[in-house]
This record gives sequence, structure tokens and C-alpha cells, in this order.
Amino acid sequence: MEELSIDEQVTKKISDAPIYVTRPNLPPLERLYPSLEAIWEKKILTNNGSFHQSFERELARYLEVKHVNLFANATLALIVGLEALRISGEVITTPYSFVATTHALQWNGITPVFCDIDDRTFNIDPDKIEALITPRTSAVMPVHVYGRPCEVDKIQAIADKYGLKVIYDAAHAFAVRIKDKNLFLQGDISVLSFHGTKLFTTFEGGAIITKDEKLKRRIDFLKNFGFADEVTVVGPGINGKMNEFQAALGLLSLEYVKHEIEGREVAANLYQHLLGGVNGITTFAPPEDISYNYAHFPILIDGGEFGRSRDQVYEELKRHSVFGRRYFYPLISDMPTYRNLPSARKENLPVASKIAERVLCLPMYGALEPREVEFVCDCILNMPTRR
Ligand SMILES: *Cc1c(COP(=O)(O)O)cnc(C)c1O
Repeated sequence: MEELSIDEQVTKKISDAPIYVTRPNLPPLERLYPSLEAIWEKKILTNNGSFHQSFERELARYLEVKHVNLFANATLALIVGLEALRISGEVITTPYSFVATTHALQWNGITPVFCDIDDRTFNIDPDKIEALITPRTSAVMPVHVYGRPCEVDKIQAIADKYGLKVIYDAAHAFAVRIKDKNLFLQGDISVLSFHGTKLFTTFEGGAIITKDEKLKRRIDFLKNFGFADEVTVVGPGINGKMNEFQAALGLLSLEYVKHEIEGREVAANLYQHLLGGVNGITTFAPPEDISYNYAHFPILIDGGEFGRSRDQVYEELKRHSVFGRRYFYPLISDMPTYRNLPSARKENLPVASKIAERVLCLPMYGALEPREVEFVCDCILNMPTRR
């Protein structure tokens, strides 16, 4: 390739469109029209309509599980899931996640207890859970960060020993498959997100996966104000229902997941190739033994070794209209709502604190083109040491 300065490369880009951290995977619009016409004709917009029923059934089949509960979004699903399982007191969770994980506890009047993370998976470190258990602990709420599975067996062994429930925030893990068992049937429930930034989207949306028909029914009631029938309200329900528009889109979009993941894999391999051996940058090959979804492409930047800090790289990329995201910085435990909790102290969370200072998620989506990946990497690698 001829030598071009970064600024020349910017102008050389075929399109000047910014490159965002992700881009939604939408099916061809014309394929959605028949569903929209059906909704307009029937005039059933929500409340367990026919698209809701079909999507619930097809999603369960896709995920190879029995019971799926659709939701308007994953945050409501987490809140209702905790209520459905009657979780109270303290819940051990990770500070290295999107804020909604901890907010769902707070909305249920539960005290979050932050546990440090593993420095390879960025998931909750199972070896540090036991020390945080008190008589008030009722559950563990781990996150499959970037779609990389938690150590589910170790976590379950601790939960069984102490009689705790396990709620997995699986917002990043859509379509991930592990060996010999189903990831979404680990723990008591798993929660998926279909937000526009996720691999599979219904604009907004989410789902709870349960193993138990009674629990599925209780969740059905709770997400619809607690109504068990026209006159019976069984609990402090909320409105968490997914509407027919979202369900119709989800049903159609299931056909496009495979293609999206294939595109992401190509981009991830190219990033890996271009950034893999660079001094001061750590990349992560997909976990072995699993079918991965390439939900995100995180890199760690060691400012001392690389010569530029994570934030300098982040700002430099922005200057070239490349918008990476510092998922997850700041830690949830550093946010004003939670930072005064005893478990939020930095010295209790050394690994999470270090990773949060170094991590940068690079653009990742199925339609990301090789020349765009190359451009992002050029911006990182050819960046002047001082600016
Ligand atoms: C996106 C996300 C959520 C929230 O999902 P919504 O559907 O936007 O409510 C929760 N947890 C994690 C880890 C997420 O990434």
C-alpha cells in the first residue's frame, strides 16, 4: 500500500460515513411489509397477539429451550425475573457490566454486592464469590460479558452449596453455544436483550429463559400488571410486554442471525491479524470449545507499553469518525449511586478496575467491511505518540 497520512486516508475512504461501534442487523424492509399488513388488518397490537405467540415459540426453538418470555426490553426482564424468583437481601454481581444489571437489583430493593472479575474472561471470578456470602445473600447475578460464557459449573456448585439462586444476564450472549449443554439453561433464569445495539434486535426488546413452566407462568402474569385472569391480580406486576411490531420483526430477524455472525467473524479475524502481535495491545481469540457470536471486539491498551493511553486512542479514533466504546468504563461500582457501598471499594476490585482503565471495544458488526477494519487499525497503529 502507498504511504498515506491518516488524514489522506480519511479522504480516501470511499464513504465518509462515521464508523460506529455497531450497526443494527435489520432484515430487508420489503420482507416485513406482509407482517405489518397483517397487524394493521387484525388490529391486535399487543397483549400476547399472534406474532408474540409465534416469536416466543420460534425463539424457544431457535435457542433449544422450552420456555421463553418476551419483554419490551431486557431491563424490565431483569427486574421481573428477580421479582418472579422472590430474590431479596443481597445479590453478588459484577461491577463490569452495563448499568442495567445493577439497576435491576436496586429497583427490587436488593443490595448489590460487587465481586471482582477474572482477568481473562472479564466475567465474575467464581473463586471470589464465597468470601462475599452473608446470611442475607439470596442469589448470584453474573453476566456473560461480550458473549463469553461464565464459568457456569463453578458458579452452580457455589449456588448449590449455599442455596442461592443464579440469574444470568445473557444480554450479549444471543446464539452462543457451549459444549454438551445449553448455556441458557444454566442457573435459574437467563435474560437476553434485543436492544438496537445488540447482535439480534427488535429495536427494543428482551426475553427471559426459564426451565420451569410454573415460573414461566408467574413471569407471564408479572409482566402484564400481575393479571392471572380478568379479575385476579397475583402480585405487584408491571407492564413489560413486547408488542406485535417488535415480535414480527424478531420473528423475521431470526433468519438473518447466521449471516450476521459470519460477517462478524470475518471482521474479528482481520482485527486479530492486524492487532494481534502489537506491543501494548491485548486482543482475545474467541474462546475454544464454544460457538461464539462475536458480540464485541474488545482490546486492552497498556498505555506504558503502547506509548499511548486507552483514552488517547479513543479520542484519536473519534477524530477520524471512528466511534469505539469504552465498555465497561466507568465500573458500575464507581457510579455515584453505588460507589458508597462497602463492596464498591477499589481495593476489593483490582482486576475490574485495571481492565476498565484499559479496555476499548472496536467497531463490530456483520456489515463492517475489511477496508473499514483496516482503516480503524491504521488509525490506532499510525497514531502519533504525542499530539
Ligand atoms: C444492553 C444490556 C442490558 C439492557 O438491555 P436493554 O434491552 O437495553 O434493557 C442489560 N445488561 C447488559 C449486560 C447489556 O449489555
